[in-house]
Amino acid sequence: MDTVLQELKNIVSPDRVLCNEPLSKHTTFKIGGPADFFVITKKSEETAAVIRCCNQHNLPLLMLGKGSNLLISDAGIRGVVLKQEDNTEGFFVTQCEDGYLVTGGAGMNLSAFAMKIANESLTGFEFAAGIPGSLGGAVYMNAGAYGGEIKDCIKSARVLTKEGEILSLNREELELSYRSSIIQKKGYYVIDATFLLQKGNREDILIKIEELNQARKEKQPLEYPSAGSTFKRPEGYFAGKLIMDAGLRGYRVGGAMVSEKHCGFVINTGDATAKDVLQLIDDVRRIVKEKFGVTLEPEVRLIGEEANTNA
Ligand SMILES: Cc1cc2nc3c(=O)[nH]c(=O)nc-3n(C[C@H](O)[C@H](O)[C@H](O)COP(=O)(O)OP(=O)(O)OC[C@H]3O[C@@H](n4cnc5c(N)ncnc54)[C@H](O)[C@@H]3O)c2cc1C
Repeated sequence: MDTVLQELKNIVSPDRVLCNEPLSKHTTFKIGGPADFFVITKKSEETAAVIRCCNQHNLPLLMLGKGSNLLISDAGIRGVVLKQEDNTEGFFVTQCEDGYLVTGGAGMNLSAFAMKIANESLTGFEFAAGIPGSLGGAVYMNAGAYGGEIKDCIKSARVLTKEGEILSLNREELELSYRSSIIQKKGYYVIDATFLLQKGNREDILIKIEELNQARKEKQPLEYPSAGSTFKRPEGYFAGKLIMDAGLRGYRVGGAMVSEKHCGFVINTGDATAKDVLQLIDDVRRIVKEKFGVTLEPEVRLIGEEANTNA
């Protein structure tokens, strides 16, 4: 392990390799045990070198975005957790035949990216302005909201393979569908993404973003730590409504609770552990299945040793 640590320190500067870093500091759920090595990269060359190093040493690697769709186990993550720096300078706009191409680095905050786009008077990305993830995480998840999704406006993405090779994938090659992508299936790492957008009116774009953010504040329990919608939308149903109709509003396990404001969200009321959340998820899935015959699939990604649901 000492050799790996030294190698990682040689790739990025030593102050950007943290040992036993608590991941509760890096997830919106504020849950998660320590990462053996937590590495922050500033450039895609560094990211590629860290990926190659992990591959050579057979060391597990988790690419972290903003940690807004993750439940990380209390025991934490063995191996390396890699975070690409939120580099807002990696933002480029170019005009093309069909509109405007906007590129951003994977570590960028999605809301900040959406605001930069709005300030360029470009429309088509408003839906993403309130999603608290990174650009890379949004592409990986094919994030979506209020009738829009990444799939609708993405042109291409550059990804790294496990061998550290760069591939450029176009929209079709990304195979984006509901909360799914080729990146998940192949274990690729996103380094940047390019979107095709159109000229619009800056004021109208900003008003739309404000309206969507207001709708979020009214409907979602943003005052509590969570990882957003806990379950995917089952075909023909809404997860939140099924959970509410099953009488589970406010249902608790330890510090984890089904939000009273929006039953589709599991919230951390203060001291929830990953174990609490996992137990609650299992209970909700079992009860909803018993009452309505519908199987709920977690949208939140469950990562780490204890993360096995039974339902
Ligand atoms: C309050 C709240 C509201 C939310 N609302 C929405 C919503 O409206 N719509 C929606 O779709 N989601 C929503 N989410 C969920 C979440 O914000 C999205 O799934 C988001 O896209 C996750 O991005 P992230 O950077 O936080 O990814 P993380 O949670 O850090 O990671 C999620 C997965 O993506 C992978 N990943 C992250 N970055 C990369 C990369 N560069 N390359 C390869 N893999 C990567 C991780 O390994 C992990 O498997 C919400 C979450 C919260 C807390």
